[in-house]
Parts: sequence; structure tokens; C-alpha cells
Amino acid sequence: MTTAALIVAAGRGSRVGSAIPKQYVPLRGECGLSMCLRAFLAHPHIARVQVVINPQDRARYEAVASCWPERISPPVAGGATRQDSVRAGLQALKSDPPNRVLIHDAARPFVSAELISRVLEALRTNAAAIAALPVTDTLKHAGGGAIIRGTVNRVGLWRAQTPQGFEFGAILDAHEAAYAAGRGDFPDDAAVAEWAGIDVALVAGDERNIKLTTAADLAMAAALAAGAAIPTVVRTGIGFDVHRFAEGDHLWLCGVRIAHTARLEGHSDADVAMHALTDAILGAIGEGDIGEHFPPSEEQWRNAPSRAFLADARRRVEARGGRVANVDVTIICEEPKIAPHREAMRKKIALLLGIDLERVGVKATTTEGLGFTGRKEGIAALATACVELPTRGAGEVPTAT
Ligand code: MG
Repeated sequence: MTTAALIVAAGRGSRVGSAIPKQYVPLRGECGLSMCLRAFLAHPHIARVQVVINPQDRARYEAVASCWPERISPPVAGGATRQDSVRAGLQALKSDPPNRVLIHDAARPFVSAELISRVLEALRTNAAAIAALPVTDTLKHAGGGAIIRGTVNRVGLWRAQTPQGFEFGAILDAHEAAYAAGRGDFPDDAAVAEWAGIDVALVAGDERNIKLTTAADLAMAAALAAGAAIPTVVRTGIGFDVHRFAEGDHLWLCGVRIAHTARLEGHSDADVAMHALTDAILGAIGEGDIGEHFPPSEEQWRNAPSRAFLADARRRVEARGGRVANVDVTIICEEPKIAPHREAMRKKIALLLGIDLERVGVKATTTEGLGFTGRKEGIAALATACVELPTRGAGEVPTAT
């Protein structure tokens, strides 16, 4: 049973009034699309994620998605309407079809692991299930001049949210049939499914899973993000690594390619600093080390970019509801000179970890010509990481299907 997440991020968000589309507006240092990707990629039952974007946002999208290069399929371009965009995303997934798909709007950045689990659980016994909340406000029907014409009975009325989950083949067929019938006016995917005769179950939504539509929503979301998940446990970890020089013309340090008179030898890209940093984060949460999760004996990690290892460590922290608070890396070598690359390294790490630049330290030192680094036989790196975890539930991954 495989499940894909389809994130719809093709909208331009004209009602928000910001210069950039709302899903790319930073909320506490991380944009809404990034928060959505993080939520779905951290969930143990989501095999891969497909994002539908507006081609005009390609550069913004790449900046976000480059943090998680492994399980995100190449983006597809959206259409004129949300319905067109979803159909494009479903068609892209068809080449390697999942059993189930969760369709989610990037405008809902506060989607939680629990909510994803609830929808998945409902899909065990239903062909379709969506997150929704009962209407609690009294509903008025107004005519011209904002004069009430009547009061609507709210019994049995629900507010639909996303994620909306479906058997993949069923929702793809429903979308294709709607398109063939010239129906392009459905407000969400549940409506497409209903039209196609599919029973859609309701599962409890989440009041925090708000949709960013207006400038006021964005302001509220920024406040929510600032107050979210107040951490109460702080843990630290340490990492150390060494790689020897070999014949070559460039090497990788902290995800930055540096032209040099030698390369670093290793099974992956031999980014010694990224390895020390990854081990520091894994150490802080007591989850082994890089060699355990990405064994050099496995061919798939040959020449692998080490950012994949760091992204994995971040996912492990976030699967526990935590976040990386700060990291500090010391690179020990006589050459190459680190200073010209230091800011690029800090930016790369900050982006990969989704944290502010001020939370990333990169330093370098020589050993005054002493020892193996002094003899220019290789480079050593040392790193520390500080991780914040919620007291209750730390270490628990939500159970689901
Ligand atoms: Mg290493």
C-alpha cells in the first residue's frame, strides 16, 4: 500500500496582497509550502510527494524543495483553475501510480501529522475521506445591500479542509471524466468525487489547519507559527569526522563545491563537515549515526550528495515534533581556505535545516602544521547540534495505517 501526497501550490493568492504568492511568504522563517512539505515528508506513511506549481514560481519552488531532494517528484505546472492543477498532478503521478493519494492545498501550512493519520485511517475502509469541521457559527443568507434574507439551518453542514484522501485510480478517473464532461467548476476534489458517485467520508479536521486567503490570515498564521510547539526539552549532540585527500580538482564542504588541488576520498561526496553535522543531530536525538542509516556498503549512496543525510536527520527530529535550534561546525585543515566560502556554507545549512542564519555557525582552524591535518593529508570536522523537543510525546511518531 503506497500513498503519495499531492500538494497544490499553483495559486497566485491575489487576495493576500503580498508581492509574492502566499505559499512562499515566510512565517517564522519558513514558508507555507515548506511547512506542508515537511509535514508530509516526515509522516511515516507518505512514500512520496508531488507538487503542482505555477511556472512563474519555479525559482522559489526550487529554493524550498532543494531541502528534500529524495522523495519529491519533479514539479508539474498547474493549469488555469485549481481543478486543472490537480488533474495535472494526478496525471504526473500516473507513471508510477500510488494506491492512495492525499490532495492538500499549500495554503494550509499547519497540517499536522495527526490529521494526516486520521485521513489515512479513514481510507482503510472508504474510497475517499476528507478532513472537515462542523459549522458552528449561525449562517445567514444575504441579498443585495448586505441585508439578511434568511437564516440557514446549519445541521449537517461541514467546512471542508484538506488533506482530502482518495483511492488513486478512482479520483484520477473522476477528474478525467469531469474534464471530458466540460465540468471545470468544482471547488474541491471531494466535489469531483461526489459528482462521480464516490462516497466521501468525513473525518475530524483541525481548527489550526487554517487556509491562508487574506492578509489577515497571513498575520494570524505568523502569530500561530511564532507560538507553535513551545519546546521544553533541549538536547545536544556532537559529531566528528575525517576524510583523507586524494587526487582530484574539487571537494565538498557544508554542501558547497570548492575548487581545490585535491578531492576528499569517500563513498558519498565525502563532505566531511556535513557528515560531522549530521552525526551531531543524530546524536542529540539518540538515533545512531550516519554510517548506520547510510551504510558505505550500499551502492545507492556512492557519490551521494551529503545534503540527503542532513535532510534525513532533520526529518527524524521533526518526526518527534522537534526542531534543530542551532548548529556549530568547525572545519580543521590547512587548506583550502574556508573564509571565502563561510557565508555560502552557513546559508546552505540554514536552508537545509529550515532555520535562521544566525542559528548556524561555521568556523575553521588549522592545527599549526601539526598532525595529519597539518601535513595536509586530509580534513577533520567537528560539529555540535542543539535540538528542541516537546516534553510530552517526544520520540513518538503518530500511529496510523
Ligand atoms: Mg564521513
